[in-house]
Amino acid sequence: MINRVCIFLCCVCVLGGCGINDEPMPQIVSGSSYAPRVIPPRIIAPKQNVRGSYSNISRSWFPPSQLEKGWRAVIVHHSATDFGNAAIFDKWHRERNHWEGVGYDFVIGNGTDSDDGEVEVTFRWRKQIPGAHCRAEPNNWANEDGIGICLVGNFDKTAPSSRQIQSLLKLIHFLQKRYGIPNNRIYGHQDTPGARVTDCPGRNLSISRLRSMLN
Ligand SMILES: [Zn+2]
Repeated sequence: MINRVCIFLCCVCVLGGCGINDEPMPQIVSGSSYAPRVIPPRIIAPKQNVRGSYSNISRSWFPPSQLEKGWRAVIVHHSATDFGNAAIFDKWHRERNHWEGVGYDFVIGNGTDSDDGEVEVTFRWRKQIPGAHCRAEPNNWANEDGIGICLVGNFDKTAPSSRQIQSLLKLIHFLQKRYGIPNNRIYGHQDTPGARVTDCPGRNLSISRLRSMLN
């Protein structure tokens, strides 16, 4: 009974924690005598430095060149479950949310249903289509223009493994270099401008620490 309740709650977290939207990054304008205002999102910048050299990067991380678009933020999630992988989340998101499939672009395993630190690439990244991981105003910007990375685990209860963090850093480095995404556009779900209130990615995954490790 307890296990069934836990599984149910985990599913609720996964399904409820990540909506279908994303938005632009508000920026405070300094030097004004008025209250700070929010600058509307810019049109996505063209791909930057996309033909730079990359070493020791999985070919699967590179989208098909004819489909590749520009991206301007990275949104980090936890699955809020103890287990899972891209195929499991894909099944849940199809059956329970009636989505096209798993909402994330990448899933980083914790050793349960995929290897610890294994990076799985989903159909959303391969097709370069909007995600379904972070609804944010305005205009669903985070799903449209943000790259969704989910680490398997409930980081309110446990912490990400060192291999998960290593893989996350490597993946984010790659995405930053390829799309010109600065550290201040690496968000946790709950810190994403315009996002709905959520605990994701959990109290034990610190985005400020992650950003410092990216420096
Ligand atoms: Zn999330």
